[in-house]
Amino acid sequence: MKITKIAAYRVELPLREGSYKWSGGKSVTVFDSTLVRVDTDAGVTGWGEVCPLGPFYLPAYAAGCRAGIAEIGPALLGEDPREIERLNLRMDALLKGHPYVKSGIDIACWDILGQVAGLPVCTLLGGRYGDDFVLYRAISQEDPEAMAQKVAGYRDEGYRRFQLKVGGDPDVDIDRIHAVAAELRPGDRLIADANTGWTRHEAMRVVRAVRDVDVYIEQPCPSYEECLAVRRRTDHPFVLDEVVDGVDVLVRGHADLAMDVVNIKISKFGGLTRARLARDLCARLGIAMTIEDSWGGDITTAAIAHLAHSTPTELLFTSTDFNSYVTVSTAEGAPQRDGGRLAASTEPGLGVSPRADVLGEPVVEVG
Ligand code: MG
Repeated sequence: MKITKIAAYRVELPLREGSYKWSGGKSVTVFDSTLVRVDTDAGVTGWGEVCPLGPFYLPAYAAGCRAGIAEIGPALLGEDPREIERLNLRMDALLKGHPYVKSGIDIACWDILGQVAGLPVCTLLGGRYGDDFVLYRAISQEDPEAMAQKVAGYRDEGYRRFQLKVGGDPDVDIDRIHAVAAELRPGDRLIADANTGWTRHEAMRVVRAVRDVDVYIEQPCPSYEECLAVRRRTDHPFVLDEVVDGVDVLVRGHADLAMDVVNIKISKFGGLTRARLARDLCARLGIAMTIEDSWGGDITTAAIAHLAHSTPTELLFTSTDFNSYVTVSTAEGAPQRDGGRLAASTEPGLGVSPRADVLGEPVVEVG
């Protein structure tokens, strides 16, 4: 089987809440997502999606994804999409770094492999654990009382895990954590995600001030070393996210006892292939995981669901249903949240059928 064409589509995904705000005053109102189509000479087509959280979150931006696909696409024509490890090495030889550029192509190849095998991607990634898996809801940064009200509202929709966007003024963040904690009920889990927004001394003030609150602290500072310094002086469960982009940092973090949970975002690792490698390593080391991506719509949510559903339940801390945050549906067959939980499709491949009327014409076409 050979790749005959690679195409990229640009789709805008407006937020249901109007905007999404996090550390450092960063916000997004309409996401710029890239849907990737890979065609083969066997008549099988696979789909992937890459949607950076704006150009200022990770070293990734939407137009860069499309430019990267135009750059490496021609040299991938004729490659066998089923030989995914080999294809990843080929992409690395063609373009150094830029894992997010490769992520959509890699996901589309998993979709093809699943269709050819007649199996859902989660089966190929290791197997399905349980009927469904647990989701968190991200709570966009607002004043403390508004965030507490959002938590109450989303609990009514079935969520039990809440990830607060903090990483702003530490005094306000302390109030945010306390205000939301007052809303929690038994069984709820609270995560304060600073998204690299605090300096070390600010992070230390916050963790001291919320010492008696049952809250996870996620990625307080920009660097691994800064986070480790905070980690070593707090007894809150500790999550690393933005600095975790490959197996090297996972091995180092395991040796340093730097975290209890890591956040595995598919595009940060360069696709399902490398995200699965990280997932399997964490599973063997007993490190729990949040499995998700930077952002996305139906296809990203489908890819997340297959990776999350094939992760041992006790090590899947939480996952995400991004397609419920946005107003545009790009594909039929994408998983839909039921309460605070989600399940991967049982259809072959990713189990999604993109909506041609939403996609329009491709903005990149190779082959
Ligand atoms: Mg995070």
